Amino acid sequence: MKLYDQHLHSKYSFDSRTNPEDNVLRAIDRGLAGLTFTEHFDTDPAEWPACVYDDASYSQALDELRETYGTDIFIGKGIEVDYAPGREDFILRFLETHKFDLVMLSVHRFGHDPIHHKNNWQNWDVSHGTRRYLQTVVEAVRWCAHIRDQHGRVFDVLGHLDLVKRYTHRFFNRVDVDPCDDLITEILQVCLEADLTPEMNTSTLRQGLDEPMPALATIQRYVELGGMSVSLGSDAHRADDIGANFDKAIDILRKAKVPSLATFEQRKRVDILMT
Ligand SMILES: [Zn+2]
Ligand SMILES: [Zn+2]
Repeated sequence: MKLYDQHLHSKYSFDSRTNPEDNVLRAIDRGLAGLTFTEHFDTDPAEWPACVYDDASYSQALDELRETYGTDIFIGKGIEVDYAPGREDFILRFLETHKFDLVMLSVHRFGHDPIHHKNNWQNWDVSHGTRRYLQTVVEAVRWCAHIRDQHGRVFDVLGHLDLVKRYTHRFFNRVDVDPCDDLITEILQVCLEADLTPEMNTSTLRQGLDEPMPALATIQRYVELGGMSVSLGSDAHRADDIGANFDKAIDILRKAKVPSLATFEQRKRVDILMT
């Protein structure tokens, strides 16, 4: 079955030093049919100065890679947009004027506070922090559904929808997503309304957790609600992690009877049937 890694970073993200060519070579080596770079676009005023997103250099690098490797593998240009309340207009203006194969929306914060800073957990226990994060995801997908009504589909994929468990596991050795199935269901329902494809992100499988983001139960719920396809991504920040644990992810998707994997080229979704 053709597999595409549709969530990965290179030196065009502030938190990776990887040469994009190494990502391409690793993806070819792993036998992937395609890889789509999703560099960070973090517009919150506290993060923006550090974000260093440089569209011109990023685009040129991918054009050159396509010249060399484009017959061996699909090389997509994507972007991982951080949901930043208050920056909606800035984000929309940027997306209107730049071209991508895939636009991913990811929530990395509860309200305004990034969940990956332990200091921000001072006022939250695991269960309340988890709910607060998932409520922010609900807010983000509702925004997607709203702007889709006005502008057509602006976002294609919802990244790592239960990312909060990576940090509750890291900081408190606990995962408390299951009691929030009301919020998970709401997120999935709004994704369907907004034509937003949820991602299965395998990064937690190499970070000490025994489940991807999201886990089997969430994917099963998505299928019950009528969901037809999922986007697959490693969230690699190093070339070695491209396509990592996709075998486990595929087992879970098969168990949940997900009919297809979604791939994106020039924003057009093409579903590949699960075999
Ligand atoms: Zn992310
Ligand atoms: Zn990422």
